Amino acid sequence: MSTTLLIDDIGELTTHDESLAPETGGRLRDAAVIVEGDRIAWVGPAADAPAADERFDAAGRALLPGWVDSHTHMVFGGDRTAEFEARMAGQSYAAGGINVTVQATRAASDAQLGANLERLVSEARRGGTTTLETKTGYGLDVENEVRSARIAAEHADAVTFLGAHLVPAGADPAEYLDLVCGPMLDAVAPLVSAVDVFCETGAFDGAASARVLEAAAAKGLATRVHGNQLEHGPGARLAVEHGALSVDHLAFLDDADVEALAGSWSGGRRGTVATVLPACDLSTRMPLAPARRLVDSGAVVAIASNCNPGTSYTNSMNFCVATAVLQMRLTVQEAVRAATLGGAIALGMHEDGWTSPSGKVHGAVGVIRPGACADLQLLDAPSVTHLAYRPGMPLTAAVWRGGKRVV
Ligand SMILES: [Zn+2]
Repeated sequence: MSTTLLIDDIGELTTHDESLAPETGGRLRDAAVIVEGDRIAWVGPAADAPAADERFDAAGRALLPGWVDSHTHMVFGGDRTAEFEARMAGQSYAAGGINVTVQATRAASDAQLGANLERLVSEARRGGTTTLETKTGYGLDVENEVRSARIAAEHADAVTFLGAHLVPAGADPAEYLDLVCGPMLDAVAPLVSAVDVFCETGAFDGAASARVLEAAAAKGLATRVHGNQLEHGPGARLAVEHGALSVDHLAFLDDADVEALAGSWSGGRRGTVATVLPACDLSTRMPLAPARRLVDSGAVVAIASNCNPGTSYTNSMNFCVATAVLQMRLTVQEAVRAATLGGAIALGMHEDGWTSPSGKVHGAVGVIRPGACADLQLLDAPSVTHLAYRPGMPLTAAVWRGGKRVV
């Protein structure tokens, strides 16, 4: 038997489980949670809580699922301070800056890349992130993409292959696409759970992106798309057509894109999550993705950090949630849901029984209910509303990951 932990005197508990509190969409007052091993064993009113081996007094504060950051690029060398400074001085962003990081990543040792990733993951954990995805995509040759995936798998909860990030400097586009869809994918496939493509002018067009998605599907891998970031393009519709888990960025969407994203979930089907990246939109001074419109249309929305050295050098999900509320006009409840359950759906981890690459079977993440993974964060505030009401404040009071206290 595992030790049981009772977390009680929870002032506000966000579960996303409507069966626990139908009128409030799963939000309970004066609640308690019991953790057993790495799972949640019991959820309900504090007054009804059964006894446990240990007790943590939440002292009236807000408990919610740990953040699920479904989109980061944290395996890289160097940084791009100078490019950021130039952009803030008025230069616009184009996809080519990625090549600067590719050079620095290839030049870095395994130990340097691992230490940098470990530092960033540790930052994310301290900010309440209990599940995070990270991508390759700064190697862009077989050796460096495999190396990036291997290092990513040591620290991240999900690894995505992004060989189709950019055609590396000096390479022929057609030959590089053959490499990505052939030998590079073959070499990296055992280390990753999904394949991503940057579908954008200056990176990969619709036809090239479709080829990457088809090659991934032929290997039995899930897919994602970076799309509609810098201008309107085919990314969002391509993602839906290919059954991608998510399409991410989405600053430039027309009505047909929004309808396709919302419609992808109709009839109980598994659809494509619309992932917005508010910190990236701010950091590039681009228009914000229309998160309000996406939620209103019925699309399933996720919020992620897109932590990377070029366009979004933050993994603070508190900041992303605050921005989604203050700038993208989501309610706090919608933003919190998108940054927890939304991310989990984008990663295919929202139902009990998903399996990690090591073969371990996990409970659902992004929700708090019996059987789910015990990934929890406690805010130093009585309500999740304070995430946007007190932006920038250090509100993370405690974090449990797989039932273990990590902050
Ligand atoms: Zn990205």
